[in-house]
Amino acid sequence: MQNALKSICIVGGGTAGWMAATLLSTTLRGSKVKITVVESTDIATIGVGESTVPSIMDFVQACQIDLKEFIQATSASFKLGIRFDDWLTPGESYFHPFGKVGKDINGFDFYQAWLKSLADGKVTAWGDYSPNTIMAENERFMLPPHQPQNWVLSNYAHALHLDAVKVASYCRDLCHKRGVTRIEATVNKVNLDKKAFIRSLDLENGSTVSSDFFIDCTGFKALLIDKSLKVGFEDWSHYLPCNRAVTVQTEQVSPPVPYTIATAQHAGWSWKIPLQHRIGNGYVFSSQFCSDDQALDTLLNSVSGKMINEPRIIPFVTGKRKKIWHNNCLALGLASGFLEPLESTAIHLVYKTLVHFIQHFPDNDFDADNERIFNQKINSDYAEIRDFIILHYCTSARNDTDFWRWCQNMPIPESLREKISLFRKRGQIEATPGQFFTRDSWCSILEGMKIRPLKYHPLLDGFHSQDLAKTLSENVKNIRATVLKMPNHYDYIQAHCQTP
Ligand SMILES: Cc1cc2nc3c(=O)[nH]c(=O)nc-3n(C[C@H](O)[C@H](O)[C@H](O)COP(=O)(O)OP(=O)(O)OC[C@H]3O[C@@H](n4cnc5c(N)ncnc54)[C@H](O)[C@@H]3O)c2cc1C
Repeated sequence: MQNALKSICIVGGGTAGWMAATLLSTTLRGSKVKITVVESTDIATIGVGESTVPSIMDFVQACQIDLKEFIQATSASFKLGIRFDDWLTPGESYFHPFGKVGKDINGFDFYQAWLKSLADGKVTAWGDYSPNTIMAENERFMLPPHQPQNWVLSNYAHALHLDAVKVASYCRDLCHKRGVTRIEATVNKVNLDKKAFIRSLDLENGSTVSSDFFIDCTGFKALLIDKSLKVGFEDWSHYLPCNRAVTVQTEQVSPPVPYTIATAQHAGWSWKIPLQHRIGNGYVFSSQFCSDDQALDTLLNSVSGKMINEPRIIPFVTGKRKKIWHNNCLALGLASGFLEPLESTAIHLVYKTLVHFIQHFPDNDFDADNERIFNQKINSDYAEIRDFIILHYCTSARNDTDFWRWCQNMPIPESLREKISLFRKRGQIEATPGQFFTRDSWCSILEGMKIRPLKYHPLLDGFHSQDLAKTLSENVKNIRATVLKMPNHYDYIQAHCQTP
């Protein structure tokens, strides 16, 4: 036997802690690694984080979770994308869909073919070619069939809106059945050796927990990775203007729609996340341009339905740890960093971090190159998502408040500046391996913000205009015809996976 790890201790029982325990208990089944979760009942979880992206379905599958049971247990609804209201200017809306937009033609990116059709005078909306957009507009949903019979059925994608507290509790029960040890206690002290490896944790009940490896899921406290190991923080608040949120849950007043709504407000934006049994609402804002009281007023004016809980203010700093893996400690969830909730990517980053970690799973030799390559990968995931989120702010044409006027001249990373510049010239989006947001996602935001390239790809001139127009019309008809045969989203939930 090589110098294998014998134990992993996960500290924190929020979404990140229990996702880690669930995935690792599945992946490490058959190994001799003992998994322990230390969970404090005195320190509350953050209790938000309810909108996801399609990788949540990969997580469910990788953990061998029964999807129907998971949806029922978490009161989930389906999510096809995000509707952005008032971002370009007040009154304008666009949809960012998951899944494919348009069928590539003769090896050319569909976006280029669509640009050529616009130049030929055929005026159609980008969203008309997205199965997800048409499903969302018509509030249709069904899980994809096992053997899709046409392009539409094999090219839409979905995620979930989940009750965060119920996710942790579902995963906790599952982990119990899978042999994960749970210790209910608050960690008082982290004990390091001379090489700055964590050796043990002192708990407030007087006991000590030792382990070969530790996963810090203590939320914004970052008790292990920051307070003890002091790896440092890369602050991105100069790029991402919002630093606080006010949240409240309200009763449902109508059936849940299959998308998140993100509405631009005078100093940030507000969300509506429809679950089966309630709506999660929040206003993410910048304290430089708005007080807590003003934010609360804005939020309460934008909600419908009776309030279920007291509104809460959540301060945050955007950025990430300089090292997400250091020695024998991995930071996960809010302990590793936070990029604001605009594209609902934090739970995705929890899953992605775990996927990289499993790929680079250490032994007790703790190879420094292994740790370095892991950190490079997760750093580039963070940077990609950061740029994508900034794109929503820096392309707004709003100048009606100080916040939006600030966004007009906001600093942006060089990587994003280059991306926008290349797009403006010829509609090109450079794909990098492993990137989460596809070309279709970038094009959806840029088109939503009315940024069109000057030219399309020169080789598209070889396409016959009438043939292209015919192909595009057939695409649109096929999408509509297929979508309109799907059931209504809420009828589908009621028939297949309603929370009892
Ligand atoms: C305003 C806002 C909106 C968000 N919206 C979304 C969204 O829509 N989609 C999305 O993907 N993500 C979203 N997120 C992020 C999401 O909430 C988190 O990524 C997710 O909930 C994971 O949280 P966590 O487990 O890291 O932290 P937490 O939920 O805060 O859990 C921390 C845990 O650590 C424990 N703990 C702390 N100190 C100790 C100690 N000393 N001893 C023992 N235990 C301790 C606590 O008891 C708790 O169990 C949002 C975040 C914010 C701030």
